[in-house]
Amino acid sequence: MAQRKPGRRREGFQKAVELTEEQKLKRNEAAKASIEAWKPRTDLGRRVKSGEITSIDQILDSGQRIMEQEIVDALLGELSNDLLLIGQSKGKFGGGQRRAFKQTQKKTAEGNKPSFGTMVVIGNRNGYVGLGYGKSRETVLSREKALRNAKLNIIKIRRGCGSWQCGCRTPHTIPFKIRGKCGSVTIELMPAPKGSGLRVAEECRKVLALAGVSDVWSTTFGQTRTTINLASACFAALKALGGKKIRQENIESMGIIEGAKV
Ligand SMILES: [Zn+2]
Repeated sequence: MAQRKPGRRREGFQKAVELTEEQKLKRNEAAKASIEAWKPRTDLGRRVKSGEITSIDQILDSGQRIMEQEIVDALLGELSNDLLLIGQSKGKFGGGQRRAFKQTQKKTAEGNKPSFGTMVVIGNRNGYVGLGYGKSRETVLSREKALRNAKLNIIKIRRGCGSWQCGCRTPHTIPFKIRGKCGSVTIELMPAPKGSGLRVAEECRKVLALAGVSDVWSTTFGQTRTTINLASACFAALKALGGKKIRQENIESMGIIEGAKV
């Protein structure tokens, strides 16, 4: 029997390779150059480029819609991203293995017209996270579309220590129990004490890790094999965290923060 390399299956998740200082500098310069070259087409974009808006919070708090991905690039800098495994492989040896690209086909008079869909999650591991779906005839293009959509969908999340077993007032988990729903899938996230880790499905773990949550417990209901709906439900739950009314005394006792930890 062939020996499996240890840790090979987690490759997709722990792709983050350490960059040397030189590579980092080069990357930063390239990112700066692309923002320099950017010609904003929306009013919001022009205000970001001129330096009138200096923080993403100004946009998110006012409820304005982001229509250009460069706005997020300019205000949040480099974000980590990850592909969710929403598809499955075809063929022999069991088939059906999880893949990042969901293959679909349209029947036409000329033959089958395949296309690829994929889901990208982005985040700075510190309070900001976005989820986007993209579909195209090429895998590379669908990934680009998904990345763009994820940037446009970026949200700020509330974190705190809502666990009665912990009470440490640091933002390692969520401040209260919250539910999110998409299709038949409902997910409930619950505050967990420090060190518990992310006790959620693998694809949800990617979303929560990039959002900057490190401990959470969860329950799910419905057809959770539908990864698109599962991830969307998880994202919806994180979004709903911001919609609850909280008392000033709770903000202090749980150490609730919105967005990045200072
Ligand atoms: Zn705690």
